[in-house]
Amino acid sequence: MTVSLWIRERVGGKRTYRKPNKKKTYPEGTVFCLRYSAGGKRRWETLNVNGLTAALAARATKEAALLSVPMTPSRPAKRINVDDAISGYLRTVAATLAHKTWLAYSLALTEFRKACTKEWLDQIDRSDLTALVMAQKQDGQDDRTVANRVSGVVTFLRAHGNVTVTLRPKYTEKKVKAYSVEELRGLNTASTDEELQIWQFFLGTGFREDEVSHSCDTDVDFKLKTISVLEKRKWNWKPKDKEERTVPIPDSLLELLKVRKVMHPDGWLIFPNTEGNPQGHFLRMLKERALDAGLNCGHCTGMLGGKEVSCKNAACCEHWILHRFRKTFATFHHANGVPARTIQQWLGHESLETTLRYLADAELGSEKTRTQVNGSFAEIDRV
Ligand SMILES: [Zn+2]
Repeated sequence: MTVSLWIRERVGGKRTYRKPNKKKTYPEGTVFCLRYSAGGKRRWETLNVNGLTAALAARATKEAALLSVPMTPSRPAKRINVDDAISGYLRTVAATLAHKTWLAYSLALTEFRKACTKEWLDQIDRSDLTALVMAQKQDGQDDRTVANRVSGVVTFLRAHGNVTVTLRPKYTEKKVKAYSVEELRGLNTASTDEELQIWQFFLGTGFREDEVSHSCDTDVDFKLKTISVLEKRKWNWKPKDKEERTVPIPDSLLELLKVRKVMHPDGWLIFPNTEGNPQGHFLRMLKERALDAGLNCGHCTGMLGGKEVSCKNAACCEHWILHRFRKTFATFHHANGVPARTIQQWLGHESLETTLRYLADAELGSEKTRTQVNGSFAEIDRV
């Protein structure tokens, strides 16, 4: 009994199916389907998932479910306890998928269990999903997170043959903007020397957060003036999509890394935490420093100790996120004439499309766009 994964598309008004490429990332809205046979019939099932990883998880669990549940309609189905189903499901995910994926499912299902008190799987209906949405919103989770968690629960239910209970909460994709030079200067003035070096590293490498926390001095090539993203077995860490890459870095950052190496001769990680392990608090540091520097927008709200707080006086401004360094890295290089293809390689993006989306804002703010926009209205301005 095998379950195959397909992507459904509309070509010229007709439904077509093709197999996904595991090396590619698929955009939001891609429709994944499963094909399998049950009860002697071929069946198709449309998945309610965001992205290939979740689709693969759904396929694996479907396969497991088909193997464990006999498909004989004559025998009355054995009732499945919700907690048993959850722990079994998480075991399968842990065995077949990345730790990060397991963590996401584990969180979604734990939150779901808090909102749903039913004992048997067959009792679960749409109202349980709605209850999860309400509870999560009350907890102050953003729409995107809520949607991801619901989608995780729906995938879990589908894996157990429940395809009728579904819900798709809406959310708006947030646009990440590059930092302005003024913002970076402001941040730097409020930061300690150590923090300053961290921001400089994020900006100069364009690395993702976990890439920064796992960067070691042995990844730096002082002669070539580059840094590489390499697997670290010690911390059981692999680069995204198992793709190692090398990025050239500015002389100023290289100098800084040389000094750090001299000051921490026994260290291996460039920015370890106090226990010598990968640092996990970069985001908190950034948010606190942005608040100190008076750079928060003053319009966001967050939760602190169960109370709602404003980014006017709490370190919760959603505009201060680590990902913006990566975007800034791309934007600055682009403005300086580095081709998009090259920036794509440096960022470790699988598709050029993702990189171009990163650079779209830079294009909007460019001199060329300025001349064109002003030119379009030149006639009227003269009236
Ligand atoms: Zn804010």
